[in-house]
Amino acid sequence: MKKEIENELHRIVHKAVNSPLTSEDFELLCREMNVVKMYYDLEFDSEGYRGLGEGEEDTSKYRIFELYSEDTESDIKKKYTFYFDANEYVHAWIEFKKGITEEDIDEDICGFLADVVYLLVSRQNMRAMLDFSETHDSQTGIMNLKSLGAKYMQSIARYPEVEYVVLYANVKNFKFINDRGGVHLGDLAIAKIAQKLQEYMREDEGVCRVGGDNFAMFVRRDNLDVMLNRLKIVQVDGLMGLRNNSHRFSFRVGVSDTDIREFGTKLEEASTACVVAKTILKKDLVVFNMELSEIISHNNQIVAAFPDALAAGEFVPYFQPKVNMRTGVLLGLEALCRWQHNDSIIAPAEFIPLLDRKGMIHDLDMTILIETCRCIHEWQEMGLKVPVVSVNFSKKNIFIPDIEKKIITAIRDNDISTSMLEIEITETAKESEIGRLIDFVRILKENGFKISIDDFGTGYSSLSLIHNINADEVKIDQSFVRKLGRDDKSLILIESIVSIANRLNMRIIAEGVENTEEGRMLMELGCGNAQGYYYGKPVDFEDMTKILMNPEFEALE
Ligand code: C2E
Ligand code: MG
Ligand code: MG
Repeated sequence: MKKEIENELHRIVHKAVNSPLTSEDFELLCREMNVVKMYYDLEFDSEGYRGLGEGEEDTSKYRIFELYSEDTESDIKKKYTFYFDANEYVHAWIEFKKGITEEDIDEDICGFLADVVYLLVSRQNMRAMLDFSETHDSQTGIMNLKSLGAKYMQSIARYPEVEYVVLYANVKNFKFINDRGGVHLGDLAIAKIAQKLQEYMREDEGVCRVGGDNFAMFVRRDNLDVMLNRLKIVQVDGLMGLRNNSHRFSFRVGVSDTDIREFGTKLEEASTACVVAKTILKKDLVVFNMELSEIISHNNQIVAAFPDALAAGEFVPYFQPKVNMRTGVLLGLEALCRWQHNDSIIAPAEFIPLLDRKGMIHDLDMTILIETCRCIHEWQEMGLKVPVVSVNFSKKNIFIPDIEKKIITAIRDNDISTSMLEIEITETAKESEIGRLIDFVRILKENGFKISIDDFGTGYSSLSLIHNINADEVKIDQSFVRKLGRDDKSLILIESIVSIANRLNMRIIAEGVENTEEGRMLMELGCGNAQGYYYGKPVDFEDMTKILMNPEFEALE
């Protein structure tokens, strides 16, 4: 690519990370490329592919984003198509100076430019969504949690004599709607449920969507029974594709009716009650009480037992292969923590989120790192060919003083090369974390480590993070793989992630591949690497040793 063009692209990408782009930003770039006009059209609510022909621009149906325009006539117009969302289509249009011929145009550069600009535009759309979501849930239009907390404070200040209870409600069997009518119907149903709940509220009460199919609300104590009755059946109409185009939803509800006035505590009690209702008691209604505190006390026991268990070597890495599906070649391993406690193996879901919340995850992550280094060393001593091994690092670690030094020392002590290790980190949307994360990654990379972005696609910051962080690998979260074949959005998202990763020279790998069907679909979408039960569940050191002695996997056609 021409140096000038490359420089300009860099500048624009850099700027776009922090602020919206204007047409002036594109001016120099367009000049270099003999472009006189560059714009995007975005079509809403279309059924399938629109196939816009030349000269057929009915702007009433689309929204045009003009990125650059020099009021000059042009001869050649090029179109690049992107799938922006399940049924919104984006076309990038690039028009060239009069007199420019097809031979003068470098298709690759134009395609690349269209790609990059598409990413920037979708990122700015995302930012607009985030602004709205400061106070509202963008999908349903009702309040978000922050606003609900603020309204609660207003209400107790205005009506000090009134007692309020907090409810945490989860829609029962919501999966049915997604399975029956796709994510689209699910989105519509959630929005309609939210509106219904909103209608039930009195003027000093409030409801918000917490995320997914979860809602939080506060109501007057003397209104609680009425509300609980209503939540037994919420009828929603206008859901095409279901019997009678309607569905009766019901909720699983956790209630906090304690005398505490503080909203955060009440909400936590209500949500604990709801989780217990769903996972342990299998009941529709659970009011928070001291028994539930037992669950919390179980958590406390884990926290208390942790230091001794750690010292006793009860936390060990298991290993799961990462495989190139086309060739069957073993690309790497991921170390996943297991707690070997009293003859049973405890999975990370039971303790990692808890230890992370309690600020204790650093010691665990360092232990798994060190144990992993020992395993690598041992395998190498046995003369085995060991691929790069990744370890998971909680973001809390990046704020530990001298964390990079600690990691490097751990590797040196075990006499292995830093290039054997890959650190898996998850995305972040928090401004306060991004700067530190970038430094952390830079220092580790300078020291020869590889970096992988885990669970990609589940956070909001994806695009800015990927531009700022020079990662080696992007892991598509397994939730997308689970929805393959059932949900167009997942296909589109995977395609976009693949295209970004390819452009930025990052390896792309899908998590949670369980069968050949998923593997083949991923390969069709351009993702040729996988980690998942199909290739092997996480196994301990001994079992992985056997695999490394003969690391052959079947190539998928
Ligand atoms: P992760 O890093 O995204 O790891 C992938 C998880 O998906 C692992 O769960 C793995 O066993 C599971 N998995 C892999 N293939 C399949 C599949 O085909 N189907 C299904 N259903 N699951 C599959 P695991 O081992 O339970 O770990 C869960 C999470 O706990 C990890 O997600 C990671 O975020 C965290 N974790 C594990 N070990 C550590 C650690 O040492 N430190 C930190 N900070 N987090 C860790
Ligand atoms: Mg991971
Ligand atoms: Mg993951």
